[in-house]
Amino acid sequence: MTSRKDWDTYFMDIAYMASTRSQCSRRHVGAVLVQGKKLLGTAYNGAPMGIPDCLEAGCMLVEEIELKLQDGKEELVRKQRCIRTIHAEQNLLLFTDREDREGSTVYVTDQPCWTCANMLANSGITEIVYHRAYPKDSDKVIDLMTHRGMIFRCMEAYEPPHGVIMEVSN
Ligand SMILES: [Zn+2]
Ligand SMILES: [Zn+2]
Repeated sequence: MTSRKDWDTYFMDIAYMASTRSQCSRRHVGAVLVQGKKLLGTAYNGAPMGIPDCLEAGCMLVEEIELKLQDGKEELVRKQRCIRTIHAEQNLLLFTDREDREGSTVYVTDQPCWTCANMLANSGITEIVYHRAYPKDSDKVIDLMTHRGMIFRCMEAYEPPHGVIMEVSN
């Protein structure tokens, strides 16, 4: 017997479907805006309209040094990041109205980075639900959410629909 999907699963599934639109070979992120049980917008990470995307022009890579905790020891690691795309959460803000966002929830496939979390914290949205962890900014973001009084939760037991997951290269 198949049970009816709960709302969390339903909206996260839609976020994952949106993420399949992304053309960045490094990361596919999808986000949806939900007010009550009403879907108000969907977005994914991508280049601005009319601008060649990662598939056409290649990723625009920058190298960053990150501080990582490995076996209780701090270590500096080099990491590459694609900056060609506007993040899914930022696109969601660009394509929705402030009035619609007041008191609403964002479902996003990946834990927001610091910049996105900072923008979401000032967007009227009061709840963020994510699936995949993004440890790099996690401490800062959780701290921000706590101070802002926003609900921030991870759907740990969630499993995305088949065929929508892309392996992420580092
Ligand atoms: Zn890219
Ligand atoms: Zn981001």
